[in-house]
Amino acid sequence: MGLNNDKATRHLSSLEKEYENYLEYPLNLNITRGIPSEEQLQLSQEMLGMLNDPEDFLSKNKMDIRNYGELTGIIEAKELFSAILGSESRETIIGGNSSLSLMYFVLTTKLFMGSVPWKTKSPIKFLCPSPGYDRHFSMTEKLGIEMIPIEMDENGPNMDQVERLVLQDQTIKGIWCVPNYSNPTGIIYSDEVVNRLAKMKTSATDFIIMWDNAYAVHHLTQENKVAKNILTACKEAGNSERPWMFCSTSKITFPGAGVSAVAASEKNITMLANELSYQTIGHDKLNQMRHVKFLKNTNQLKKHMEKHALILKPKFDLIQKKLNERFNESNLLTWTNPKGGYFVHLTTMDGCATEIVESLDRIGVKVTKAGATYPSGNNPRDNSIRLAPTSVELADLEQAMDVIGLCIEMISLREGNKK
Ligand code: PMP
Repeated sequence: MGLNNDKATRHLSSLEKEYENYLEYPLNLNITRGIPSEEQLQLSQEMLGMLNDPEDFLSKNKMDIRNYGELTGIIEAKELFSAILGSESRETIIGGNSSLSLMYFVLTTKLFMGSVPWKTKSPIKFLCPSPGYDRHFSMTEKLGIEMIPIEMDENGPNMDQVERLVLQDQTIKGIWCVPNYSNPTGIIYSDEVVNRLAKMKTSATDFIIMWDNAYAVHHLTQENKVAKNILTACKEAGNSERPWMFCSTSKITFPGAGVSAVAASEKNITMLANELSYQTIGHDKLNQMRHVKFLKNTNQLKKHMEKHALILKPKFDLIQKKLNERFNESNLLTWTNPKGGYFVHLTTMDGCATEIVESLDRIGVKVTKAGATYPSGNNPRDNSIRLAPTSVELADLEQAMDVIGLCIEMISLREGNKK
């Protein structure tokens, strides 16, 4: 026992020595946000030169897309995006460059417009499967909606918890879902979870599902598994007004210069189009046409996404290799091995994540703030770290993983010593 303790103490002090060396010579690495690398952006460069001939400016129904008109998007774009989302063209609106702004639009419409705006009956609450996407949570908080964290497992949100809450509380008006390669855990919602979300009895008659399909086509392997279609499942369950589905090309072509889309029942889409008509005469149809000419159809899109995967897969593989080398036999860390999406999620020992992230920061390695993926940044277990490796070079990622491993081991051993 004494010998083992000695060995552990020596190991910890060698880790601390290594860390001190980094304090003296800090690195400069940032893996905080899920953004594409320059090499990925380059894959879509050709799209920028795609509108040249006079007929390129004419949509299928012979409208000049350089002019005003087509509030809800050109028909070609609706065909492409409805194929991605699994809706009909008439159930789809093409937005601007950000699906987040469409989500904000749907939420504000529900809060302030319609025959019974949510706001007239506050408080309003939302279920927030956690860890989840930090911007969903900050948007919800900003709009004054109370957030209720829901546990996540490898199949999606804990449905026993969800069903119980929505049945007993009519102020719970919705739930956030990232069904494919969930941000940050990379899981795909199981059929059972999708069916239960579609069928469950809710006390609020106007309960909605915010189905953010940001990573619908972002596979890293040939498995290409996707979550069941929530719109179809809800229609079959007699709850067709429940789901709102979103996607964008932010991680297909250019973030900030892509195209977004929202799909829902025809009734919901007609309502939203009416609200939209007070905001704008229409979105950028030239960009819609560029995307249609470049991505063409789901087959061409698949080929394009395979090029992204070729760039991304080695980065995700490297993370697995590094974590396996260091933590395979250890109980200090568990982690995800996603088959798509943009993130790897680490589960540390309870109470360690913040300190690990802060110690990394001190030696020049920035990772997403611990707890950022929980409502109001509050993870009571303090055990969650999100890695976003897409934008960095492999060599930098390798260096980052060395020090991430070092800090996890050092902080966890110190924490273990306290117990
Ligand atoms: N949803 C999720 C789950 C995301 O991870 C991201 C990007 N990080 C977005 C939405 C942002 O989408 P957009 O650029 O279309 O606003």
